[in-house]
Amino acid sequence: MKTLKDADDLVRAGLIDREDIPKTTSISQTYSIGVTSQVIDTIKNSSFDDAIYKQYIPDVRELDSTDNETPDPIGDHAHEVTKGLIHRYPDRVLFKITPTCAVYCRFCFRREMVGRGKDALTAADIEAALDYIADTPQIREVILSGGDPLILSPRRLNEVISRLENIPHISLIRFHTRVPVAKPDLISQDLLHALTTSKQMIFVLHINHAQELNHATITALKSLRKHGTVLSQSVLLKGVNDNIEALKSLFIALTDIGVQPYYLHHPDKAQGTAHFRLTIQEGRALYKALRGQLSGYALPHYVLDIPDGYGKVPLNGDWIAPHGDGGYTVTDIHGKTHRYYD
Ligand SMILES: *Cc1c(COP(=O)(O)O)cnc(C)c1O
Ligand code: SF4
Repeated sequence: MKTLKDADDLVRAGLIDREDIPKTTSISQTYSIGVTSQVIDTIKNSSFDDAIYKQYIPDVRELDSTDNETPDPIGDHAHEVTKGLIHRYPDRVLFKITPTCAVYCRFCFRREMVGRGKDALTAADIEAALDYIADTPQIREVILSGGDPLILSPRRLNEVISRLENIPHISLIRFHTRVPVAKPDLISQDLLHALTTSKQMIFVLHINHAQELNHATITALKSLRKHGTVLSQSVLLKGVNDNIEALKSLFIALTDIGVQPYYLHHPDKAQGTAHFRLTIQEGRALYKALRGQLSGYALPHYVLDIPDGYGKVPLNGDWIAPHGDGGYTVTDIHGKTHRYYD
């Protein structure tokens, strides 16, 4: 089945009611809709359990933006060195090679930049990014992100990988992807062949719930594991996985198939996502309780991306302290402090 892309498609698939068409259409004018057949199956197999449904089906609250939300919550722009290339940490760059994804998550932290019809890179932009990487010897790792890099055709991926292959100071190529969850059949033999390189490869899977791991997803992850290390990152989301049972089953299910939980992200202040956010206090209480229930290797780092581009820091004692007024003081990796309010 084709990917559902608008309100009418969602009605036909029985995912929303006819009377929801106007509001769903107005949301889709700002934020793309993308629901693949894999996701439809997951929603149906979870008997429409909210945990999967909420991640993909638009909610009218997306049209409300609160004062503290911004179009660029993690401050990509502040460190953009060439179009789409973010150089925030000295030894690694994040390359937003495409603005499109296989699915569109309703809480996406890059939702203003990500979507169908958003500003794509030209061949010259890609050239400029690769030139910057080649000319900057302190870069050791290139993180291909987006959007989702694994929706590119094998031919286009191979062009980029081949260029990186010839840059001696690059030792690692990392992919941030939701494709094994969203559209696992894209992990084809052709794609895997296109990814052949002598560099180390790391695949970081975006996954938020154990129900997202079905047979096709597990098969795709096993194929990726033959090519590199597979880690996971999850977003802590109200109504999706904000309870011990959900988080525990997710991290155990991942380690059971050889995927190492890496990051648990506190939700970013992307526009129209307030209904997904819990407080830092709630998040820390959940994380603390998890510590007693999981092996150390099954527990990801719980992190906050400090708004405006100051980077990710763990949400624990050394980095964050309550401030008298109900907010927090967060210290970045340079020792600089920032005020944070839920
Ligand atoms: C998250 C991020 C990285 C990667 O950080 P790690 O801690 O190495 O996973 C790199 N660059 C940017 C701009 C990021 O947002
Ligand atoms: S897969 Fe990632 S980049 Fe794409 S919509 Fe979801 S959160 Fe955003």
